[in-house]
Amino acid sequence: MIKLDKKTQTFLSSKLLCICPLCKKYIYGKDIEIVKIEPSKVKRWPITVVHCHSNKNYPIHALTLYIDANFSIRSRDVSQYLKIQT
Ligand SMILES: [Zn+2]
Repeated sequence: MIKLDKKTQTFLSSKLLCICPLCKKYIYGKDIEIVKIEPSKVKRWPITVVHCHSNKNYPIHALTLYIDANFSIRSRDVSQYLKIQT
C-alpha cells in the first residue's frame, strides 16, 4: 500500500491545483483535502473531486476537478446550478 509521506503531503496541500474558471479563486490541495485521497484505493484514474465554494460576488457553485495519478488536474468543470439533497 502506498502511503503519502509527510513531505509529499505538505507539498500537495500547498500545491496550486487550478484557478476556478468562474470566480478565479485559487484552489490549493488543502482546499479539497487532497491528502485524504489514497492512491492505493483508487480503481480508475482520473478521479473526480467536487469542490463547492462561493467567492466575492459569486454565489455557491461546484467545481469538478479531474485528478490523475500524479495529482495533476486533467480537466475541470463548473456547475452554477446546484441542488444538494440529503
Ligand atoms: Zn469558483
